[in-house]
Amino acid sequence: MKHIRRLEERVANQIAAGEVVERPASIVKELVENSLDAGAQSISIEIEESGVRRISVADDGVGIHQDDLRLALERHATSKIETSEDLALVTTMGFRGEALASVASIARVTLTSRTHQMENAWQLVVEGGHEISLRPAARSEGTTVTVENLFFNTPARRKFLKAERTEKAHVTDTVRRLSLVNDNISFLLSDGGRTNERIPAVSKLENRIQLLLGADFLDSAVPIDESREDLRLWGWVGSPTFNRRTRDQQHFFVNNRYVKDTIVSHAIRQAYRDVMFHGRHPVFVLYVSLDPSKVDVNVHPTKSEVRFREARQIHDFIFGSLNRALRQTESIYQSSNIGNSESLGSRADRTSFQPQQAQIDTTSLELQPDSEDVGTAIFPIPTQQSPVTNKGVPPLGFALAQLHGTYILAENSDGLVVVDMHAAHERITYERMKKDFLEEERMVTQRLLIPAVVEVGARDAELVEANGNELTRFGLVVERMSSTGVVVREIPALLTDSNIESLIRDVLQEFENYGSMDSLQEQAEDLFRTMACHCSVRANRRLSLDEMNGLLRQMERTENAGQCNHGRPTFAVQSMADLDRAFLRGQ
Ligand code: ADP
Ligand code: MG
Repeated sequence: MKHIRRLEERVANQIAAGEVVERPASIVKELVENSLDAGAQSISIEIEESGVRRISVADDGVGIHQDDLRLALERHATSKIETSEDLALVTTMGFRGEALASVASIARVTLTSRTHQMENAWQLVVEGGHEISLRPAARSEGTTVTVENLFFNTPARRKFLKAERTEKAHVTDTVRRLSLVNDNISFLLSDGGRTNERIPAVSKLENRIQLLLGADFLDSAVPIDESREDLRLWGWVGSPTFNRRTRDQQHFFVNNRYVKDTIVSHAIRQAYRDVMFHGRHPVFVLYVSLDPSKVDVNVHPTKSEVRFREARQIHDFIFGSLNRALRQTESIYQSSNIGNSESLGSRADRTSFQPQQAQIDTTSLELQPDSEDVGTAIFPIPTQQSPVTNKGVPPLGFALAQLHGTYILAENSDGLVVVDMHAAHERITYERMKKDFLEEERMVTQRLLIPAVVEVGARDAELVEANGNELTRFGLVVERMSSTGVVVREIPALLTDSNIESLIRDVLQEFENYGSMDSLQEQAEDLFRTMACHCSVRANRRLSLDEMNGLLRQMERTENAGQCNHGRPTFAVQSMADLDRAFLRGQ
């Protein structure tokens, strides 16, 4: 056995560097955060070869006094906190005093700085933790930190870097993220001498978001601003139709710090789950502020993870706020628009149909007895009151015809409404099941005249035997009949039109997936989504005008009816003005 020895400071720093500096973008983050902590108004970032050759960050902050230059590069040396009480209340981005020391141990660092009081700047050069020089230099007030030859003495680390393009993208993302919480500060990012990103200071956060996420995002997004005690959540959540293939446009900040947190992600995912197409990801920019003593940011050296003291409360608050906001956007009173006039009749262009927000004054809607809701044999849903506009025409209008067994054409006071009847019916059934389940705690069922025998295989037959009671709560009265078969006696009344065999197979498969899931509510929604797929009006089923009107009225009463369970729109509106334009009327 060898004796225990204290690690040399330089080695300790290199080890710490392994945690703080994963890639060039991590250095950019640390340096820019230092500039922000120093009160900079304008920050300029330069990189060469994606930052591996050179990263330089210059600011106009308060600067570092010449006597403190060496200390700034030492580990656990910080001007930001003194006591452990400070740690609990920290509001600066940095506080661990290890970033510069870490970077200086694995690269060549040149620190040039000048404070208000100094007559000239001073410059300290350190390479791999060894001081090279300290001398006067020329610079206006502020600090420039230049990092060169990153990982020169840790080649293993260097090997882990991705392609130059990837590393550069990480740097850009880092700067953009930091700029999303510092809208009053200007950022300039240049690469190999060429300006890559110019982000000017703005007086309104919206302007910065518009610059970084595009005007389309803000146009379709719902603003949020909710508070509960000292907790505040604000920002913008993208409409479900404004979705992406990846999560790259999801920005969440806690007390001005970009974080990735499983609790927060879960809450957001839950809020979107009913309206988001499977495999697609929403876009959002959200900010949470709370008492710093209620959140620990010192979980990881890069501070990209946090720990909330009251995690459940945070989760529910975020979920609740987003859920309300999203429901409000997807309500029926926002109509959508079928493309532009040029696209009429051209199939290829139909994919460009972009749902838009139309201003329909909901205050002018009044409730009137619903006389249209007849002949709903395939929609066995009790009649309720339906909103009717003051012109007597309901928002989705009255049915004119059915197109190719797929669309309902209707006329409202704006013009033509086109409804995807399958998608709409699926959504109505899903919302209805959910509501029944919440209110009655079980589904309304329909007894089958002739029980259906279904061969499901040994595993699913066992599942039925073990979970029969559970299935009953969801409106499926089903028993095991043989080693591989089950018999279905009752099904949800809303699904009487469906293929029982495929319904039961899908439900059992869904059940299998649950495994150890503990939240029944979560399971219920998945299950309803699965079941609702089976309810849709069968393809090419001819509907009478009364049946179509019945469906339109139900849509108007249904939350989220503007989108099907998979996040696709259920209807679109072509206004008279759009039609006039298409036919070059009045031009
Ligand atoms: P931390 O940010 O956790 O304090 P760092 O190693 O990042 O640790 O920085 C060490 C110290 O160097 C800071 O506390 C600060 O006093 C000083 N410093 C670093 N960068 C700047 C800057 N751009 N302007 C002014 N002071 C700086
Ligand atoms: Mg720092």
